Amino acid sequence: MKVTRTMKQRLSARVYALMAGFLVLCTAFAGNAATIENVRVYPSPENTRVVFDLSAAARFSYFTLYDGGPLRVVLDLHDVENSIELSNVETESLLLRLIRPSAPPADNVTRVVFEVTDKTEAKVFSLEPKERYGHRIVVDLPGRSLIPEVQPARVIRTAETTEFRPVVVAIDAGHGGQDPGSIGPAGTFEKLVTLAVAQRLAAKINADPTMQAVLTRTGDYSLSLSQRARAIRQARADFFISIHADAFTSPQPRGASVWVLSRRRSDTELGRALENKERLSEELYELEPSLDRNNNDPNLARALLDMRRDDSMNDGSLAAELILSELGKVTNLHRRQPQGASFAVLSNIGTPSVLVEIGFISNPQKERLLRNANHQEKLATALYRGVRQHFIRHPIPGTLLANQSFQRHIVRSGESLSVLADRYSTTVDAIMEVNELTSTVLRVGQELQIPIT
Ligand SMILES: [Zn+2]
Repeated sequence: MKVTRTMKQRLSARVYALMAGFLVLCTAFAGNAATIENVRVYPSPENTRVVFDLSAAARFSYFTLYDGGPLRVVLDLHDVENSIELSNVETESLLLRLIRPSAPPADNVTRVVFEVTDKTEAKVFSLEPKERYGHRIVVDLPGRSLIPEVQPARVIRTAETTEFRPVVVAIDAGHGGQDPGSIGPAGTFEKLVTLAVAQRLAAKINADPTMQAVLTRTGDYSLSLSQRARAIRQARADFFISIHADAFTSPQPRGASVWVLSRRRSDTELGRALENKERLSEELYELEPSLDRNNNDPNLARALLDMRRDDSMNDGSLAAELILSELGKVTNLHRRQPQGASFAVLSNIGTPSVLVEIGFISNPQKERLLRNANHQEKLATALYRGVRQHFIRHPIPGTLLANQSFQRHIVRSGESLSVLADRYSTTVDAIMEVNELTSTVLRVGQELQIPIT
């Protein structure tokens, strides 16, 4: 949906760029004016971001018009030419009603008006070229812009859950919004694959009364590292799992891998490539550099972080092994052991964390698989089982999984896993995981252990 729109915009930007080139020739325009090559709009739950892609660096100024008439934010781009039909730029933001051109105060200025539905404290900053992006001017309009997709409903069984709580798992779909992550040879965006698997994993976890999932993002928008970290802290997550499907420079690497936070930088070529890739992605979030470094007491924060980090690193490694062994049942593994790397996304929180590469999107076969709903479901199931096993083997006191007990059940004629899951208030996946079943077919007389919470 958003992808096609962006591609359409890019295409039309190219057509406009051609036309602009033609006009420049015709009028023998001599100045060094930058041109607007594309306009991108990214609504997220708390903000609308508009990015102007420019052919060269440009100066800007802006102001708001909040007394009388429609609420407006006005941006002046100095020494900038525009040939893009701004009113055609689609916006799905609740906050940003319309982008339109307006009569400029001087010949060399392009004036852009943002009509907004609510007063907003606009912030504008410029960014230098980086990787696939050139010169950019970014307009942030804080305010409710997108209704987050509703997370799967929790089934709460009041009688049993009064004393013990579910294990909370924060799930992070890598990349998003203007940061597509890696792009497969057939054009698949990593950000969409990671979101699909994250949502399937969340649905599985939320169907299990002993666990609860929190997604860092529920749609196609970007989050800064600190926003991701905040989501995890607010959820009081017991575990953090970041999902990626990256590319490697050569198409050979195929399998999945699981990474845990390590203090040292990775000692493998692949590890270093991934570290650099994720760091670059962070810079691509188009975050205003100074905005995100507001920390009242960085030394205290660092000391606390170091104290907790050894434990959480340890727990991350234990979980990583279980997740790897489950992933190995549904996909080939790139490495059989958890890998260590110093990922920024994992280093800012004191929660046991893993980063899972569910496959290399740069491999054409893997790219096809990663788009496949069945395969996504298998991956999500493997992740769910790995995390669940971790919290059974290394229980957190006070959680339902720490008090998990089992009931023996002999399968009778006509019983299926879903019938049993319903009867015992558990899930098909949980029964399969406990009994290490690889198929949902049961035979009469088969003995099963049913998890009871
Ligand atoms: Zn990634």
